[in-house]
Amino acid sequence: MNQVELRAPGEVRLAGLPPLALYIHIPWCVRKCPYCDFNSHERAGSLPEGEYVEKLLRDLESLLPSVWGRPLVSVFIGGGTPSLFSPEAIDAVLCGVRARLRLEPGAEVTLEANPGTVEAARFAGFRQAGVNRISIGIQSFDDAMLAALGRIHSAAEARRAIDAAAASFDNVNIDLMYGLPRQTQAMARADIGEAIAAGTAHVSAYQLTLEPNTVFWSRPPALPGHDDCADMQLAVEDALGAAGYQHYETSAFARPGRRCVHNLNYWQFGDYLGIGAGAHGKLSFPDRVMRHSRIKQPRDYLAADDTLVEERKLAADELAFEFMLNALRLVEGFPGALFTERTGLPLAVVETRLSRAESEGLIERDWQRIRPSARGRRFLNELLQRFLA
Ligand code: SF4
Repeated sequence: MNQVELRAPGEVRLAGLPPLALYIHIPWCVRKCPYCDFNSHERAGSLPEGEYVEKLLRDLESLLPSVWGRPLVSVFIGGGTPSLFSPEAIDAVLCGVRARLRLEPGAEVTLEANPGTVEAARFAGFRQAGVNRISIGIQSFDDAMLAALGRIHSAAEARRAIDAAAASFDNVNIDLMYGLPRQTQAMARADIGEAIAAGTAHVSAYQLTLEPNTVFWSRPPALPGHDDCADMQLAVEDALGAAGYQHYETSAFARPGRRCVHNLNYWQFGDYLGIGAGAHGKLSFPDRVMRHSRIKQPRDYLAADDTLVEERKLAADELAFEFMLNALRLVEGFPGALFTERTGLPLAVVETRLSRAESEGLIERDWQRIRPSARGRRFLNELLQRFLA
């Protein structure tokens, strides 16, 4: 007998809960980069490590009633520049996390590091604290480009940081940027060539974009044109593909078996707790999906009793859009059933938009998967706009 399921329009009903991750934000940097729109703040004097760790664990405590019994698949300590924190402080955070939540065996634990803030002993300390993946913000191996980006490190320091990380970690990501001020094709190719030669497990390659509320937004540097940037993107993708990296998300490339578990969970619309200044989180329940966010300014965050600034239920149309916004970044797309699994909505709610995107050649689908086409990946923003609430 066929079962017919009746639902009220927009009703959210999840058959099961998605994997759960934890994001920890450390908001300080040595200096603010002129292109950066993250919640990062120039440090003034010594960092209030102990006070901040206490606050992070208090944030986590407040979320526990919503996630009882659910294990963590990954932890990501991002920023800012988390490598400014001592290994002892990172150890205290991770001990506190483990005392409150179960980590899946082999759970990925990433820490973001910047050249110029780390040396071999510090990396070894992070490894001992339980970090098993390092993500290094290299951006370029060209001193002129690094200066144009306002980075605090030189190309030589970038190389030294990769070597020092590799001595303690077999799972290292490097972040690179292209489309930099006055960058030529040859310079972009040289950067990606050096990244490949470094032999890390993962490379993230982003195009520099001008974001509101940054120095570059108010005083834009001379950037390569749109076609030049598109050619650089293709050159990056070709070079990494030829070197054996799998291109699995717009900007992410991994050696086999080294895809980033934490970021994949975002792109597959999994759940995550957000703790620390300005951190965001997403949590699913059988009948709703909630978002939470925290006070952004480190000083206000540290002074507050309750750091939560927003907690709200996502409307059905927001859920559909947010799922697409994430899942269509994946080169292999997603199985149609995942939409319902993660949003609690039938795929039919986006059918009209899917058909339109398909007729425009922006997506491809078969009976199992929905994925962006090569054209859809190239014009990702246009594709995503088709699913705007
Ligand atoms: S180091 Fe990273 S987080 Fe800090 S200001 Fe620069 S780009 Fe932003």
